[in-house]
Amino acid sequence: MKVQDIPCRTILNPTGGFLGEGFTHSINLYRGCALGNTLCGVYCYAQWNSFHLQGRRWGSFLDVKERVLDAYRTQYDRLKHPKSGEAKPIHIFMSSVTEPYPPQERTTRRTRRLLEDMIARPPDSLVIQTHTPMVTEDLPVLLKLNEQCRLHINITVETDRAKWPRPFQPHAHSPESRIHALRTLRAAGLHTVATVSPLLPLNNPWQFATDLEASCDRAILDHYLLGDGSQDGKRTKQTALPQLLSDTGFHEWNTLEKFEEIVGIFKEVFREVTRVGVSQEGFNAKR
Ligand code: SF4
Repeated sequence: MKVQDIPCRTILNPTGGFLGEGFTHSINLYRGCALGNTLCGVYCYAQWNSFHLQGRRWGSFLDVKERVLDAYRTQYDRLKHPKSGEAKPIHIFMSSVTEPYPPQERTTRRTRRLLEDMIARPPDSLVIQTHTPMVTEDLPVLLKLNEQCRLHINITVETDRAKWPRPFQPHAHSPESRIHALRTLRAAGLHTVATVSPLLPLNNPWQFATDLEASCDRAILDHYLLGDGSQDGKRTKQTALPQLLSDTGFHEWNTLEKFEEIVGIFKEVFREVTRVGVSQEGFNAKR
């Protein structure tokens, strides 16, 4: 894994497309992802960003953005305190094309420092989308930020299967550890969302939905055929995922029929329909 610092002039990037309905900006403090060689790296939608790749293999690099606090403060002040005209809304999705809590976050503290800075310059809303339980280490700052803006913590739990047959790569963090993180954050009073995205094969769908229902405020389900940013999952079909699922006896999980069945189970277990979102509409929904 090659880790290097890169310059950064702007950090609030205007959104469009998949996130355009619910968010004005995305924030990505890193480029590339240190989890790219784990299970989620197989299907990861971010691996298609050729501007970020610059010919490099996904999972082989992590670019760490420099001077992000300066960039955030400058852009924030322009949007919220313009010399003329009205203040603009800031609804942030962090992160859309990287992981905000890679292992390197423990030394760089890019995410924590920005969250601390946001307490004085709060956006209107912030969604932190992560694949790791490491977000719980920032609980003190998250609680402070929660008093200043509408904060959602999304943790991806795309399956209940802890172990995967070869040639799948292992999880970076077990599903159990991520569900436990959701439970911890929710118990502390934060709004938590389990993102079952993209849905992968489940051992026990009813038990999985029951465990998540007890651990989070909402669940969002997605399937690569719907939510990978291309028509009919064209991008994911270029990865090894669909074939690997077929080769290991999980072919039906490549279908939307299976997805609809799982959505139905979640709606039954979560009881309130507003607690279960699907694909783009689910990610963009406001509470
Ligand atoms: S953690 Fe997220 S950005 Fe990183 S490889 Fe997995 S899915 Fe992609």
